[in-house]
Amino acid sequence: EKTTLSNDAIINYRKQHLGKSLSLQYKTPIKMVRGAGQYLMDQFGQKYLDTVNNVAHVGHEHYKVVKAGQKQMALINTNSRYLHENMNELAKELIETLPEELNVLHFVNSGSEANELAIRMVKAVTGEKDMIASEVGYHGNSNMAVAISSYKFDGKGGNGAPEHTQIFPLPDAFRGKYRGENVAHKYVAEVKNCIDNIQKKGRNVGGFIVEPIISCGGQIELPEGFLAKSYELVRKAGGICISDEVQTGVGRMGKTFWGFQLHNVVPDIVTIGKPLGNGHPIAAVACTQKVADTFANGMEYFNTFGGNPVSCAIATEVLKTVKTEKLQENALEVGEFLKAELLKLSKEFPIIGNVRGQGLFLGIELVDANLNPLAAQTDYLANRMKDHGILMSTDGLDYNVLKIKPPIVFTKDNAKEVLFYLQKILTEDFLQL
Ligand code: PMP
Repeated sequence: EKTTLSNDAIINYRKQHLGKSLSLQYKTPIKMVRGAGQYLMDQFGQKYLDTVNNVAHVGHEHYKVVKAGQKQMALINTNSRYLHENMNELAKELIETLPEELNVLHFVNSGSEANELAIRMVKAVTGEKDMIASEVGYHGNSNMAVAISSYKFDGKGGNGAPEHTQIFPLPDAFRGKYRGENVAHKYVAEVKNCIDNIQKKGRNVGGFIVEPIISCGGQIELPEGFLAKSYELVRKAGGICISDEVQTGVGRMGKTFWGFQLHNVVPDIVTIGKPLGNGHPIAAVACTQKVADTFANGMEYFNTFGGNPVSCAIATEVLKTVKTEKLQENALEVGEFLKAELLKLSKEFPIIGNVRGQGLFLGIELVDANLNPLAAQTDYLANRMKDHGILMSTDGLDYNVLKIKPPIVFTKDNAKEVLFYLQKILTEDFLQL
């Protein structure tokens, strides 16, 4: 039996002996000791409704997923230089969900590793290293991933865009550089501008990477037509296109299994992470035969843990669960209900300037009458929701977006509970305009 440390003792030890750039959620940090479905429990037995965790995709500690991992772990876990059918089985499950062009998988351990590999593929295929990415985009913690993540290099401690990265403005039709209806072409022109900038330097485009809904940017939905037109321009210039589905993939969008499918495009590379292992570290890169063939130039790609039988057993069970429990359909139904009700709430409380997103991937943006961002109020709302046992997170360029991205077993009753407390808290003094 382990001794239980007080939260203060854990915090003090962290401060001294664990990475100094680790941050903590909430003014009074919480220690979670159990998870089940869309709920978490802290050490005092307090239950929380989780609207934040898009990793525990099919529900925290899903019984079948846990069992699949335990069972395989007791048999054999080793690297992919030995044969094992689990890797094939997982590949098949994924290929079934993807457009037919995307039928080669590489298994890795995190979203960062997936994007890192995708960038290496870009270099191998195009011979170029210039990347185009979105403002406030986040693609991971490795050197190359940070180099295309404006969220990091344009934020605290960053040094701006590196030489080989071109950033286009956040395609936010609500408060971005171009606003309102029919702005897709203006944001496409910004992508064109990035291509021109690269060519002016006497080089050419390597890759274009964007999430189908920009998560760290504050659940920014891409304007209709933006992605298809951008892909067309990038490909015309010789570049290849990556869809980062680390947050948006695996059924969360509701209408579609992958985010890019909302935009009627087929990327050359898709990177998959968070939800795939339901909390276990497994991620993947899907690509075309052409990309895979060119990348395999003789140098072996070896990944000690990537695609091991335990990880694959877990991820296969996650994908099967999404299908058998009809969780994509649930994300659609519950997500559309919640979004419609949030829109009603925005009519009653003008501090809610915008409600957006797809399926169970929604954003609520708080602004004043002049569309100025209200970060303190957004933080207040998240902390007050916690007082009522509901976990919510904030994000966006100005930290004024509440994000809803729960395990996709989230029910209509859960949505109603969120709405009930949001409405109650929105009447509090601190949130009056
Ligand atoms: N891409 C996106 C869109 C992400 O949100 C994240 C993680 N927040 C990553 C990549 C990196 O994934 P990981 O933390 O698993 O390395």
